[in-house]
Amino acid sequence: TKVLLTGGSGFIAAHILEQLLSKGHSVVTTVRSEEKATKIREAYPDKSADDLNVVIVPDIAKPDAFDEVAKIPGIEVVLHTASPFHFHFKDPKTELIDPAVIGTTGILKAIARSASSVKRVVVTSSFAAIVDEATISNPATVFSEASWNPVTLADIHNSPATAYRASKTLAERAAWDFVANAATTGAKFDLATVNPPMVFGPVVHYLASLESINTSNARLVDLVQGKWKDAIPPTGQALIWVDVRDVAAAHIKAGLEIPEAGGQRFFTTAGTFSNAELAGIVRRNFPELADKLPGPEVKGGELPEERFQFDNKKTTEVLGINWIPFEKSVVDTVKSLQAHGA
Ligand code: NDP
Repeated sequence: TKVLLTGGSGFIAAHILEQLLSKGHSVVTTVRSEEKATKIREAYPDKSADDLNVVIVPDIAKPDAFDEVAKIPGIEVVLHTASPFHFHFKDPKTELIDPAVIGTTGILKAIARSASSVKRVVVTSSFAAIVDEATISNPATVFSEASWNPVTLADIHNSPATAYRASKTLAERAAWDFVANAATTGAKFDLATVNPPMVFGPVVHYLASLESINTSNARLVDLVQGKWKDAIPPTGQALIWVDVRDVAAAHIKAGLEIPEAGGQRFFTTAGTFSNAELAGIVRRNFPELADKLPGPEVKGGELPEERFQFDNKKTTEVLGINWIPFEKSVVDTVKSLQAHGA
């Protein structure tokens, strides 16, 4: 199958790319710079330009960004992962919302216009589009595939986290609206979304550096670099997680392998985690890091009592994923960080 994967240089996308290529699919992937394109090509020296075509799309916030890529013949599945995930922006509208929303509508419009072979699009959404900040700490709350974040554009200056959540929510809504209005938009494909919470897991060697580590793995870098030695920081409110390899597999299953995935949201999570648990796992498995790590007497980071519940049975059933356990994910992540000099 020929797949278009946007944002191929990303933490999650690098795993999707690896799994697609190892399953024998041919991939067109987009990145922002020639430097990243070269790194990806060099990581797969055995792949021909037909099997792996790396294309530069410099700015996904431009409405016509994907017009040329969509003209590449034979694409059957689109996996749209590119979207900003960081909190170092000045203007949330132009730096987060626009690339997220225009990036999503831009690719959908481009394929509706020029890529009639596309049967399915999978958009990487997020738990951010499921959660409701007003009820996140209420134990009566049960978030599921049916839950929607009520956030609006009016809320984006509340906090950086709210702005990010809005970018994911508005982008996902725009995608569902696009396929719901096929009569006017011309969509001849169906849609599925993958909605992961905090994603941990090994970083792909040829892309990452410790300084520019992806946002969700940053807490593991802080931990192994000694920043939690005296106090373990609070886990935060979004205390569910999933391994990046499961997220990548979910995209491939939803996009290529499970016909009935069309029209569905997939809430990919393995369950709750806490920073206290994370510190304990690293302490047990990496004795050589002991002088950087908080000792067993150091407090903090426990799972808060006041927290939401979740139900993702539908996702687990339809995708048939046996979620990677937390300890394995953390151990594999730390090993990959050590390979980068941590
Ligand atoms: P990364 O930051 O590693 O990946 C983000 C990708 O989007 C990169 O390829 C990046 O390109 C690209 N990108 C970001 N902004 C732009 C822009 N303005 N123009 C063009 N490309 C852009 O993070 P992840 O892999 O974690 O994120 C991938 C997707 O998964 C995102 O949609 C994110 O919202 C979603 N997600 C991630 C979660 C997590 O915990 N990691 C949880 C839930 C959802 P470049 O490499 O050049 O920066």
